[in-house]
Amino acid sequence: SKKAEEEAIRRSKALENDGLDTLRKVSRQEYLKKREQKKLDELKDDIEDEQYLFQGVKLTEAEYREQRYKKEIYELVKKRTEESDYTNEYRMPDAYDVEGGVNQEKRFAVAMQRYRDPAAEEKMNPFAEQEAWEEHQIGKATLKFGSKDKKQKYDDYEFVFEDQIEFIKAAVMDGVNVEQELSVQSPTASSAKTAFEKLQSDRKTLPVYPYREELLRAVNDHQILVIVGETGSGKTTQIPQYLHEAGYTSRGKIGCTQPRRVAAMSVAARVSQEMGVKLGHEVGYSIRFEDCTSEKTILKYMTDGMLLREFLGEPDLASYSVVMVDEAHERTLSTDILFGLVKVRFCSSLLCSKLMLQESSSLLNIRLLVSYFVGKDIARFRPDLKLLISSATLDAEKFSDYFDSAPIFKIPGRRFPVDIHYTKAPEADYLDAAIVTALQIHVTQPPGDGDILIFLTGQEEIETAEETLKHRTRGLGTKIAELIICPIYANLPTELQAKIFEPTPEGARKVVLATNIAETSLTIDGIKYVIDPGFVKMKSYNPRTGMESLLVTPISKASANQRAGRSGRTGPGKCFRLYTAYNYYNDLDDNTVPEIQRTNLANVVLSLKSLGINDLLNFDFMDPPPSEALLKALELLYALSALNKHGELTKVGRRMAEFPLDPMLSKMIVASDKYQCSDEVISIAAMLSIGNSIFYRPKDKQVHADNARLNFHMGNVGDHMALLKVYSSWKDTNFSTQWCYENYIQVRSMKRARDIRDQLEGLLERVEIELTANPNDLDAIKKAITSGFFPHSAKLQKNGSYRTVKHPQTVHIHPSSGLAQVLPRWVVYHELVLTTKEYMRQVTELKPEWLVEIAPHYYQLKD
Ligand code: ADP
Ligand code: MG
Repeated sequence: SKKAEEEAIRRSKALENDGLDTLRKVSRQEYLKKREQKKLDELKDDIEDEQYLFQGVKLTEAEYREQRYKKEIYELVKKRTEESDYTNEYRMPDAYDVEGGVNQEKRFAVAMQRYRDPAAEEKMNPFAEQEAWEEHQIGKATLKFGSKDKKQKYDDYEFVFEDQIEFIKAAVMDGVNVEQELSVQSPTASSAKTAFEKLQSDRKTLPVYPYREELLRAVNDHQILVIVGETGSGKTTQIPQYLHEAGYTSRGKIGCTQPRRVAAMSVAARVSQEMGVKLGHEVGYSIRFEDCTSEKTILKYMTDGMLLREFLGEPDLASYSVVMVDEAHERTLSTDILFGLVKVRFCSSLLCSKLMLQESSSLLNIRLLVSYFVGKDIARFRPDLKLLISSATLDAEKFSDYFDSAPIFKIPGRRFPVDIHYTKAPEADYLDAAIVTALQIHVTQPPGDGDILIFLTGQEEIETAEETLKHRTRGLGTKIAELIICPIYANLPTELQAKIFEPTPEGARKVVLATNIAETSLTIDGIKYVIDPGFVKMKSYNPRTGMESLLVTPISKASANQRAGRSGRTGPGKCFRLYTAYNYYNDLDDNTVPEIQRTNLANVVLSLKSLGINDLLNFDFMDPPPSEALLKALELLYALSALNKHGELTKVGRRMAEFPLDPMLSKMIVASDKYQCSDEVISIAAMLSIGNSIFYRPKDKQVHADNARLNFHMGNVGDHMALLKVYSSWKDTNFSTQWCYENYIQVRSMKRARDIRDQLEGLLERVEIELTANPNDLDAIKKAITSGFFPHSAKLQKNGSYRTVKHPQTVHIHPSSGLAQVLPRWVVYHELVLTTKEYMRQVTELKPEWLVEIAPHYYQLKD
């Protein structure tokens, strides 16, 4: 039992460290330093207190006592806010790692409840009583001290928010075309308009509206057009409608890509309202594993990844008359690849004339051209397809250059001047600083004055901020105006996403807590204050180890300026940067590195190969990926037998490309054919695709939850099998919600897994793999898993860590794994996550001889 105890300690240590990513670790040192400093300051405070001094003014003893009392109350509120780790309430050990939510089920339930019945929250709040008391106490304090006092200096707010953050106003971002704005913005005519009429008149106030005819002419005259306009000018919502009104939809759909799921859904919803149709009919959206379109759909908003997949099935995009690649400045992987494909496929005329003109229009080039046109591609050449590339940043020349000097259409934007403020000193804890700043703004500025937008890095952080804001403002009772908190991130239920767009009621203020999605994809009207901590969660990839992870990273200057710009949409704005001017000028990159240069390319390479694009090293990328990363991808696909020695797609590869999954998962599915267990394997794949939001663990029932979880791990079958067991047990209960509650499983995640599984089942049919069940042959299932994941195998070391087999590095089993205590000699893992250590997540035991059997070209037996 001593061993068990040690183990428990080791685990809890690991968990404790787990939440700190590398970046925060650095700032933690700063944090500690700052805390020291703060203690000293407090000491100084107390000395001053003895002389009844407050902020340099001498108080009477009575006044001093009042202040003291209020301070105590405030400290109490603050302390409770800090101590009650309500944010940990439903947190699994690995909650920090992924943006995808943990315990969503519960959170969603609470969120929905709040949304439907705000009053109900009070009933659910376990602190309600205590809070009421505190509110009362604070109220008393104010009453006694407050209004009668002549010295404005003792402003409640100033005192309450004594841990203020000091800012320096350092710059002004100039306004553009503000006069125009003022003259255009006024048609708030007759009051008795219907909502629909109002929408129609609102459309006419958007900056793009005056350019409607000119824009349509430009689209008519050119095959490719680059469109540039400030965020919020109406590019995404209006241009597809204009094109529809001008008749482009009579010969095909209009597709508009977005880098993010939420943007695609939200914009589609808005446009369907504006057109007065039901979402999913004429206007729809399509995101991975969710298709909300129909036969009728003519305006289709989709993620860029979905258009890329459609390319695979329909390489001439025959059903489209216009493709608008929106938010091009984001330079997501899919956008970049789409660019390359579109250029090769549809811009052959440009390519042709360019080649002819080149001084080196040698015989070789001509021959290339001939073969190009005589080859299969000529059938796909579509001069009638319009391509619009729209971007919110002004450096559109790059896009234009890439598409052989395509014309640039600039929509003159409008933006009011924005004051930029920097902090005096770096902030140790940007989340806390953001909250303090928001409260500072809220209590010192009149509420009707404008809303607040805070940029955070992910769901977890947003939820923490939401809770903290609630607790802090609740402690302040009615002393401050109502603060409406609106979170927005990728996994927020659709019903709640609309909330950010609702107008702020009079006398209240909205604070929007958003991920990068609000940087350019979504425009929220009425924002006057932007709080920018300067971080974003970004993918990074190490081509040497093949390791990909999500890291909180400083943003670029370009991003910082976009964020600031969000505050000047409807009036002069203010942007509070939670970093110093020195940081801005010296530490931030000018531009964000395009995703293609910092990601695993295996998936893309497989897609391109299946489109017949073989010479990837010479593919015309806008910014080529590091050749190391390309080679790594080719190497992996070869190892998975998706490519042959000559780099050509094999039959296995062709089948794999059908699945909208990472190649290793696709390979696992394709291999399940051989081991006759496709039924089980697609369930596992679906469950793995959900991420880490299957199990939940309420704070007051941790032991129950852990026991329920252990049930699925019985016999140390490994995490993949445990996931399978969860799925099959749920299925056996006829997908019962009650069963999920009893077993601490999140029903929402399970439903999503079921949807994904259904789609995978459909795809099996397409690649002619029979659905066969083989539930009792664990080895067969494990072999199928190994067939996809053999590059992820690791061997136990003497000290309890593991060593990856192919590119040796030290890794550990994640504490949340069912095998964390078992430590099998050989394992295969689903993914690596980097927190304080490199952890393997979702681990299954394997027999080493399988490696040689399954991947003899990859692994050889020593001795
Ligand atoms: P752009 O693409 O140029 O950034 P949009 O077309 O997205 O501009 O936005 C134009 C206007 O439509 C903005 O004022 C924005 O507030 C409004 N809008 C966009 N989406 C929604 C939505 N889902 N709900 C309410 N208003 C929206
Ligand atoms: Mg847009």
